[in-house]
Amino acid sequence: AKSQGRNTYQFFSQEMNAQATRLLEVETELRTALVEKSFEVYYQPQVNLPIAKVVGFEALVRWKHPERGMISPAEFIPIAEETGLIVELGRQVLEQACQDLVWLNQRLDYRCYVAVNLSPRQLKDPDLPAYLDNLLSRYDLPPQYLELEITESTLMDQMDLSLPILHAIEQLGISLSIDDFGTGYSSLSYLKQLPVHSLKIDRSFVRDIPGDRDDMAIISAVSAMAAKLNLEVVAEGVEEREQLMFLKETGCHLVQGYYFSPPLPRDKVLATCERIREK
Ligand code: C2E
Ligand code: CA
Ligand code: CA
Ligand code: CA
Repeated sequence: AKSQGRNTYQFFSQEMNAQATRLLEVETELRTALVEKSFEVYYQPQVNLPIAKVVGFEALVRWKHPERGMISPAEFIPIAEETGLIVELGRQVLEQACQDLVWLNQRLDYRCYVAVNLSPRQLKDPDLPAYLDNLLSRYDLPPQYLELEITESTLMDQMDLSLPILHAIEQLGISLSIDDFGTGYSSLSYLKQLPVHSLKIDRSFVRDIPGDRDDMAIISAVSAMAAKLNLEVVAEGVEEREQLMFLKETGCHLVQGYYFSPPLPRDKVLATCERIREK
């Protein structure tokens, strides 16, 4: 038993070593990409249903790796988070998103907002509110044009540390949205205390419409609750016309998903806004 224990230990230590090496490798590459500013930001329209009009965009980071091609944020964001590089990466995304929003709004005959994802570590950064304040003034951007998306689990995991930061952000006039809503364990009483402006219903609830009665009941209930609490509801991952029809009936007026558009580079956004309007 003793020798087996030792083998197990060796096995784990080798495994851990390989993992650590890989982590270090990606960390080095991320650092280089940050210095060279080689991340791009794509934009996915959020569409107001009754009038089929694009009202805002979610900013989604993209990494075009010189050798490995396009790498999904689902792969590198967790590593950026673990290594702390997310704070710098997050700032580059915020910077690019504001710059691109100004560019887009100058070319649209109305005004849109941009929604940027924030990770757990960014939400523990006491310098975040001052950074955002400075960002908005540098781009001469009224705060209502910036929205921050925070996942439900992030919010609940670190309420103590994040709450003062969230209140400071609210003071700046920036809106907060709860991402992946329904997948975490937020209680309604918390929701009431938080300076939240909208809920994003997680894609997993939208995916199986119209087949899954339970998902549909959950969406109806969330929409009704949100209306009473004066919160906006955004449904993500909308791919099918039937999903759209159900959401419209249910009173969920903002949708995002491949049905209207995938995330796009800035230069392709305007044509898509036009196309959606004509749909
Ligand atoms: P998320 O915030 O839940 O973003 C929505 C994801 O769903 C995006 O994946 C988007 O491309 C995808 N999506 C949109 N519409 C549809 C649809 O109709 N069907 C399906 N199947 N998928 C759809 P993406 O861009 O790969 O991003 C994955 C995750 O990476 C995001 O999930 C977010 O958690 C994270 N992420 C992306 N950009 C950033 C960022 O700048 N900062 C941080 N902290 N996280 C980011
Ligand atoms: Ca999001
Ligand atoms: Ca989401
Ligand atoms: Ca999701």
